Amino acid sequence: MLSQEVFDYLKEVGCCTICCLRFLKVRGDEYMNVAKTLQRLGLKDTCSDAENGEESGPTSKKTKPNVCVACLGFFSDEFLAKLTEALTTHPHLIQYECDEFVLAISFPILLNVRQLSLWLALIDKFGQMHGFVSNKQPDVPLKEVSKMVISPKVSQALGKKYGQNGMMISISINHADETAELQKLTEVDQILFKTNCTNNKSKKDKKGTVNGMTRGYFEKNFLPSNIDVDIYKQNIPVPPAIPDSSMIVENIAVSGPTIFVAGRYQKFCRVLPHTPWILNGKRVMADSVQELIVQSVAPYFEVPESKVIFSSSGREDVDVRCLGKGRPFVLEIPDSKRIILPQSVAENMEIEIDQTEKIRVINLQIVPREELVHIKFGEEKKTKTYRALCILNEPATVEVLQKLNIPEGFEIKQWTPIRVLHRRPLLQRPRRVHSVKARVDPNDHKILILDIVTQAGTYIKELVHGDFNRTDPCFAKLIGQDIDIAALDVLAVDLDWPKDVNNRISGQCETVRDKNEIDDLNKS
Ligand SMILES: [Zn+2]
Repeated sequence: MLSQEVFDYLKEVGCCTICCLRFLKVRGDEYMNVAKTLQRLGLKDTCSDAENGEESGPTSKKTKPNVCVACLGFFSDEFLAKLTEALTTHPHLIQYECDEFVLAISFPILLNVRQLSLWLALIDKFGQMHGFVSNKQPDVPLKEVSKMVISPKVSQALGKKYGQNGMMISISINHADETAELQKLTEVDQILFKTNCTNNKSKKDKKGTVNGMTRGYFEKNFLPSNIDVDIYKQNIPVPPAIPDSSMIVENIAVSGPTIFVAGRYQKFCRVLPHTPWILNGKRVMADSVQELIVQSVAPYFEVPESKVIFSSSGREDVDVRCLGKGRPFVLEIPDSKRIILPQSVAENMEIEIDQTEKIRVINLQIVPREELVHIKFGEEKKTKTYRALCILNEPATVEVLQKLNIPEGFEIKQWTPIRVLHRRPLLQRPRRVHSVKARVDPNDHKILILDIVTQAGTYIKELVHGDFNRTDPCFAKLIGQDIDIAALDVLAVDLDWPKDVNNRISGQCETVRDKNEIDDLNKS
């Protein structure tokens, strides 16, 4: 039987059972139970089975198997034990309270050389008969098989599940012979290639690695069809020689997953910028909405505040409050040490933020990455509701009030306001004002309170006074007299996200200050 012949040959030259199966193109979960797979394929391991910890009979003597010529011992029990020990004792890994992980393993290029040598040997020995040809990879890639063999073992050792949203464990694996063997390869690099192939060699792939040999360069050029096989064989053993030592775990780097914490904030302060306000390298104001939130959230996830990215559904000016249900925001937290946010912790964060008395946060929660579309896209379709305190030169007439009660709304054209030109491109944007409701302050008839519903992205201050005709029409134009804006509040951001969660479980909810009162607007 042909498979048995190939299997026997691979065993004879020093492959481990898993690598034999790789070169027999066995795929997927067949590697979960190697003994069963051998049985299913009708393969008999006539050499020692000691490497799998099985003994073929009570009389057989367990001999120490050689280090596999193909995987350099990567799939051996000894190496797996070394790897799991390195992982379980890793000083950083234990910092992560994260029940899922993803593995990224980087292998030495030496494995590619080994594969090529075996490839050439198999072509020599079996050729077309068993599908070993010079233009088709001879094996199932080590990376693919390692997922089936290594990941379950790591999972067991760490007590964590394999999952795409988990922490990333990057393992660099190396071998003592890597440098020397690649050096040998580099030496023959110039004479190895058939003349018609030399032009195809991409020199730019070669920079900055061991002896100028990169995996990309190797995989692209070192193919049986490209090289002069005789010269290769004179310099590199075919089949590959049995190595003296096994792979070593060179480095393990761990990074946490990126998690997203969303919520809504209300802003009560008229001297608080959205993000740190720094002018010519100097801070203009001590705090910002961003910093007040991040400083209470980042420590729990053990991430430096500077690494956290804050974004929100729009923003308000430094002197504008944001009331009502507040404005949705999300924090992107990279390399997080934790992936869950218990409600009691969220509550403490919210209470701590309350104590700043400048902002208030509700509905703090972890959200999946997919939900960020709510905050990042469709901004122009959203509507915002504002309350503006405006001042006239003369007491408001009935006519003025009538002109500023516009339930049907209207269209405007708005050039980028002069005050933001330094940070926004000069553009004229069409915007929809959905409705305007006006009433007069009973204590001072020069003061108007306007409730304005607009398309997101409308500049409200300019909608009131016109910004030197750069916003057209504006309220001043509609009423035919000067009108200025004294204070502005955001009353509603029409994004119903993230979902409501009541974190104030311990009842430490302060009484909600009704910040929407006109009096209050007037005073502040
Ligand atoms: Zn192997």
